[in-house]
Amino acid sequence: MAQFLMDNVRCGIQHAIGGLASKPERDLLMQDFMTVETTNFPHEGSNHTPAHHYSEFKFKTYAPIAFRYFRDLFGIQPDDFLMSMCSAPLRELSNPGASGSIFYLTNDDEFIIKTVQHKEGEFLQKLLPGYYLNLDQNPRTLLPKFFGLYCYQCNSKNVRLVAMNNILPSSIKLHQKYDLKGSTYKRKASKGERQKTSPTYKDLDFMEHHTEGLFLEADTYNALIKTMQRDCRVLESFKIMDYSLLVGIHNLDEAQREKTEARKRTDSGHSDVDDAEGEPKKSGLNRTRSEQGREDFTAQVKRTQSINRQRLVAHSTAMESIQAESEPIDEEDDVPPGGIPARNARGERLLLFLGIIDILQSYRLRKKLEHTWKSMIHDGDTVSVHRPSFYAQRFLDFMAKTVFKKIPSLDLPEIKGNH
Ligand code: ATP
Ligand code: CA
Ligand code: CA
Repeated sequence: MAQFLMDNVRCGIQHAIGGLASKPERDLLMQDFMTVETTNFPHEGSNHTPAHHYSEFKFKTYAPIAFRYFRDLFGIQPDDFLMSMCSAPLRELSNPGASGSIFYLTNDDEFIIKTVQHKEGEFLQKLLPGYYLNLDQNPRTLLPKFFGLYCYQCNSKNVRLVAMNNILPSSIKLHQKYDLKGSTYKRKASKGERQKTSPTYKDLDFMEHHTEGLFLEADTYNALIKTMQRDCRVLESFKIMDYSLLVGIHNLDEAQREKTEARKRTDSGHSDVDDAEGEPKKSGLNRTRSEQGREDFTAQVKRTQSINRQRLVAHSTAMESIQAESEPIDEEDDVPPGGIPARNARGERLLLFLGIIDILQSYRLRKKLEHTWKSMIHDGDTVSVHRPSFYAQRFLDFMAKTVFKKIPSLDLPEIKGNH
């Protein structure tokens, strides 16, 4: 997506969030899910909109009051949302799916903006009341956290955008990433994907890398599976399919080894890198004042970001989503909070970052497109009822049996023996 588009989108979001400030907080009404606000952004600016460098465009904000309510429920203050979205340029993610959607990450790592198809946008709009019902009953969920739905219109071109939570922190190294569906049919990362620096692997790759799965403490395992069961029930009720569990793995022991390796290289004088991720260091004498100033500034920005991060992320981490209470595996400064502690078969300590993604494919909608003709012959209802439940069951089975395992408890009688 072109730069101007993102500039205009930021401008549109800024206007939308700013405008909400004048609308008092109140209970949600059914009509709040249906409202669409459209604002014109003429090139030369207007009473309500700033002048900008590009041609006139329209910006639509869907269900502004409803999304404000959701953001509030997720503990996201309007100022924080505005800062994240608008104060710095967005970064394009390099791991898009096959659908052609483009993903942007906010500079502070909190939010993702995904471009979606017309049908998906429409579906999200229809989903909102049900989504609300679910959140109200069950704020602990691994379902995507939707923070806004927008449409940018220029010269009869429409770009629909969804703002949601970022599941994978980019501030720490994720040693492996998986997009899992519970299917084995063609579920292997392509050659092109595998050659990337940080590939997103699929089900068959997972089974090859982790033949025995990932081990969780019993309480954590139970909380995770229970959360996924509830989530899948909701997805099934909306006839949603094709969703995935996105899993990022940070291996604490591997990270430790990498650090030691880097230090060794530094000590033996072959490199002037002062830590694993650090930049080559200039000696103090060679440093100009502006470089010094820049470093101070960077440090300051990083500090502010990490304070913000703690405040925001506390409401959308994997650990918080499943409401488990196992002890953090390790208190490390540079590891963002909220990863789920786990171990691999070798006993190495892991932190898992995960969530369910890509839930805007409804079988009902697909059926309209692909099965309209077929449904004249077949009993369409039977199909539409069974496919999503089959999908959910297969998904859950795979997660509960193949991907995640309980660490055998030492208290079990069969381990303790008879004494
Ligand atoms: P397709 O429909 O072909 O599967 P898509 O364009 O709908 O693709 P998604 O499946 O939503 O794309 O996501 C593609 C990839 O983008 C994921 O595998 C993941 O790497 C990344 N991604 C998507 N959503 C998130 C998120 N909320 N946080 C972090 N990464 C994400
Ligand atoms: Ca997908
Ligand atoms: Ca998709």
